[in-house]
Amino acid sequence: MSDALGRLDLLALDDDVADENRLLRSTVRKFADDRLRPNIRDWFESGELPARELAQEFGALGVLGMHLEGYGCQGSTATQYGIVCAEIEAVDSGLRSLVSVQGSLAMYAIHAYGSEEQKQRWLPGMAEGTSIGCFGLTESDAGSDPGSMRTRARRDGTDWVLHGAKMWITNGSIADVAVVWARTEDEADGTKGSVRGFLVERGTPGFSTHDVHHKLSLRASVTSELVLDDVRLPADAMLPGARGLSGPLGCLTEARYGIIWGVTGSARDALTATIDYACSRTQFGRPIAGFQLTQKKLADMAVSLNQAQLVARRLGDLKDAGQIKPHQISFGKFANVRAALDICRDARSILGGSGITTEYPVLRHAVNLETVYTYEGTHEVHTLVLGAQLTGLDAFR
Ligand SMILES: Cc1cc2nc3c(=O)[nH]c(=O)nc-3n(C[C@H](O)[C@H](O)[C@H](O)COP(=O)(O)OP(=O)(O)OC[C@H]3O[C@@H](n4cnc5c(N)ncnc54)[C@H](O)[C@@H]3O)c2cc1C
Repeated sequence: MSDALGRLDLLALDDDVADENRLLRSTVRKFADDRLRPNIRDWFESGELPARELAQEFGALGVLGMHLEGYGCQGSTATQYGIVCAEIEAVDSGLRSLVSVQGSLAMYAIHAYGSEEQKQRWLPGMAEGTSIGCFGLTESDAGSDPGSMRTRARRDGTDWVLHGAKMWITNGSIADVAVVWARTEDEADGTKGSVRGFLVERGTPGFSTHDVHHKLSLRASVTSELVLDDVRLPADAMLPGARGLSGPLGCLTEARYGIIWGVTGSARDALTATIDYACSRTQFGRPIAGFQLTQKKLADMAVSLNQAQLVARRLGDLKDAGQIKPHQISFGKFANVRAALDICRDARSILGGSGITTEYPVLRHAVNLETVYTYEGTHEVHTLVLGAQLTGLDAFR
C-alpha cells in the first residue's frame, strides 16, 4: 500500500470505519489489486472486457445486488455497498459501472417492482453473476428527458409488443435480461398509457443489440444500443409494481448513491499516484512535491477528497436510517463527481507529460469521469434538482 494513501486521510476518517466494514474493504481491495488492477490498462486500451468472467467473480465476492435482501443477495448496509463501489472504482469507473448496473439498476428493478416469479427466476443467478442484466431507459432522442421516450408497448391479446430503440445501455450486448422501459398505449377501457418496465430476454425474436465503438471514456465497459423491432412478450414479462417514470427514477436513485461513493475511489487512486509521482520526480534539483505550486494543488485536491468522503458517509448514514431524500442524492452526485473530476484533471497536470499515458491511472480516471458526470442524470440535471429544492421553482422546462 502506498504511504500516500495514509497521508491522504487528513480527517482521520479511517479511525471510524467499523471492523466488519474494514474487513470488507480489505477483501474487495485485495481482489481489486490482484485481479483487476493488473489488467485494467489492457482492457481500457483494447476496449475489450471479459465481462462474463468478471461478473461471476464479482458474484463470488458477494457484491452483486449486495444491498438487496433475499434471493441470494447479502442484505448489506448502504455504507457497505458504498465502500465496495469506492474500491472497485479505485481501479476503473467502467468496472464499477458493471457492478452498479447489475445490482442497482437491473436487480433493483426486479427486486422492487417484479412479481415473485420474476424475482425467483432472475435474482439468484444475477447475484451469482451467472446471469447479467442491463437497464434500458435512455434513447437517442430522450436522454435527460426520459418522459419523451418513443419506445412503445402495444397490447395484442394478452401479449405486449414492444417497438423502439434504447441507446447508451451499459452491459447491453452481454445481458441475459434487459429491463426495458416503454410507454404503453391508452387502453380500450380508457386507462391512460404510462411508462412500464418489461423483462426482455436475450434471444427474443426482434430483439438485437449493437455495441457503441470508438469511445474515449468508459472503455472498460460494454455500451450498446438495444433495438426492439416488434418484440412480442407474454403478459407476465411486465414488472407489475412500476407504473410511470417513478419506476425507472427509483432505480436511478439507487445507482446514483453508488456513484457518490464510487468516485471517491477514482479520485483517491489518482491522488495517491500523483503524490507518489511528485515525491519521486525531480526537477531543478529537488522533488516537484517540494514546490509551493505543487503543494497548493495537492492541498486543494486532498481537502476536496476528504470532503467528498464525508458527503458519502453522511449519505450512507441517511440511507441506512431510511431517511435519504432524492435531493440529497443529487447533492452527492453533483458535489462528488465534480470534485473527483477536478481532482483528476489537476492531478494530471502534476504528472506532466507522463500524465497523458495509461502508465498512470490519472487521465484514464478523468476521461471515465466525463461519462459519470453525464450518466445517471447529468451534472446540470442535478443542479436543477438542487435549485428546485432551494427555491421551490422547477427550472426543467
Ligand atoms: C457510457 C455511458 C453509459 C450509459 N449507460 C446507460 C444505461 O445503462 N442505461 C440508460 O438508460 N442510460 C445510460 N446512459 C445514458 C445517460 O444516462 C445519458 O447520456 C444521460 O441521461 C444524458 O442524456 P443525453 O446523452 O441524451 O444528453 P442530453 O439529455 O441531450 O443532454 C445534453 C446536454 O444538455 C443539458 N440539458 C438537458 N436538459 C437540460 C435542462 N432542462 N436544463 C439545462 N441543461 C439541460 C444536459 O445537462 C447536457 O449537458 C449511459 C451513457 C453513457 C455515456
